[in-house]
Amino acid sequence: MKINSNYLNLEESYLFSTIARKIEEYQKENKDAKIIRLGIGDVTLPLAEEVIKSLHKAVDDMADKSTFKGYGPEQGYGFLRDAVRDYYGSYGAKLESTEIFISDGAKSDLANILDIFHIDNRVLVPNPVYPVYLDTNIMLGRNVTFIDANMENGFLPLPDESIPADIIYLCSPNNPTGAVYTREALQKWVNYALKCNAVILFDSAYESYIVDKDLPRSIYEIEGAKSCAIEFNSLSKTAGFTGTRLGYTIVPHSLVFEGVSLNKLWLRRQTTKFNGVPYVIQKAAEAVFTEEGQREIRANIEYYRENARIIAETLDSLGVWYTGGKNSPYIWLKAFDGMTSWEFFDYLLREANIVGTPGAGFGANGEGFFRLTAFGNRENTIEAMERLKRLRNRA
Ligand SMILES: *Cc1c(COP(=O)(O)O)cnc(C)c1O
Repeated sequence: MKINSNYLNLEESYLFSTIARKIEEYQKENKDAKIIRLGIGDVTLPLAEEVIKSLHKAVDDMADKSTFKGYGPEQGYGFLRDAVRDYYGSYGAKLESTEIFISDGAKSDLANILDIFHIDNRVLVPNPVYPVYLDTNIMLGRNVTFIDANMENGFLPLPDESIPADIIYLCSPNNPTGAVYTREALQKWVNYALKCNAVILFDSAYESYIVDKDLPRSIYEIEGAKSCAIEFNSLSKTAGFTGTRLGYTIVPHSLVFEGVSLNKLWLRRQTTKFNGVPYVIQKAAEAVFTEEGQREIRANIEYYRENARIIAETLDSLGVWYTGGKNSPYIWLKAFDGMTSWEFFDYLLREANIVGTPGAGFGANGEGFFRLTAFGNRENTIEAMERLKRLRNRA
C-alpha cells in the first residue's frame, strides 16, 4: 500500500495554532490584560428567528410518518433550488434551478469540483489566498501559478495575457483582503477566460456584504460569465450557517468544454459521491430566502458591517493604508512602520491587547499586512479602536 504522497508537499499551517499559543503565553504573564480578538474568521451572532422556527418545524416533520423524509435528491430539494434561483434573480443574475446544486458548504465543493477536471490543467491562484484553493490542488499533485495581489493593484489582480491558465480562482469580496472587484475588472477576467478557454471558479461567500449597487455580487452579472464560470456560495457568512452547514454551487448549462456539459459532469459526480444535505438543514436554509428571513439576516449583516465601518473609519483617521471594510467583513491593513506581519501581531498584542491575523499566513504577498475582522462584538470593536488610536498617537 502506498499513500498519496502529495499530502507530504502541503505546508503545515501553524497560523492559528501559533496565534493561540502566543495569546495563551501573553495572558499567563499578564493576568489582568483584557485581550480583544479581532482575528475571528467565524460569525458570532445566532441564527435568525425565522431560521430557528423552520428548523424546529422540520424536526417535527421527521417525527411524523406522513411528513418524514428519507434520502432526498442529491443536488438538493426543489424548494431550496428555486429559492436560490429567485434570490439571484432579485439582483439581476438569471439562473435555472437545475444549475444550482445544494451542498454542505462552499469549502467541500471548492475541493470536490476538482474531480471533474483533468490533472494537466494549469491553475492560477491569487496570492495572498484562502488556503483551500491552493491545498486542494497540491493534494492532487498539481503545481499552481500564483498571480500577485499587492498594494499596486489594490489586492485585485487583473489577468496577464502572458500567463496561460485553464482554471482560475477568484474570490470577491475577498478573504483575506476584503477587496471587491468592480464590474469592469470582472469583465476583464471573463473576457480572458473566454479567450483562453479557461474556467473561472468564483467564490462569492461574502456576496451579501456588498451594499454598493455598482459592485457585482455574482459573476453571472457579467456578460459571458455563464460560458466560463462556476460560482460557489454559502450561507455560512450570510446567515450564520458556519456550524449548521449549507452551501450551493452554480454550474450553468452553457458551460461546455470539449463538447461536454460541466453541469452534467458535476451532477454525475454529486449523485455518485454525495447523498445530499439533511432535510432539516435545507428547510432552515429555505427560511433564509423568505422576506422575513432576509430582513432578519440583513440585521445581523448590518451589525458586522457597522463593526467594519468603525474599524475602517479609525484607520482612515490614522492614515493607515487598507483594503476592505466597506463591502466586506474583512479589513486588510498595512502593518505600522514597516513591521512584518508577525512583528505587528506581537506589537498589537503587547501594546494594545488586540489580536488579529498576520497576513503572511495567507501567502508570501501577505507579508507586512494584517487582517482584522468585523465578526467581534460592538463594544469590543469600539474599545479596540480606541486602543489603536491611543497607541498610534503615542508612537
Ligand atoms: C468562509 C468561507 C467560505 C465558506 O465556507 P463554508 O464551507 O461554506 O463554511 C468559502 N470561501 C471563503 C473564502 C470563506 O472565507
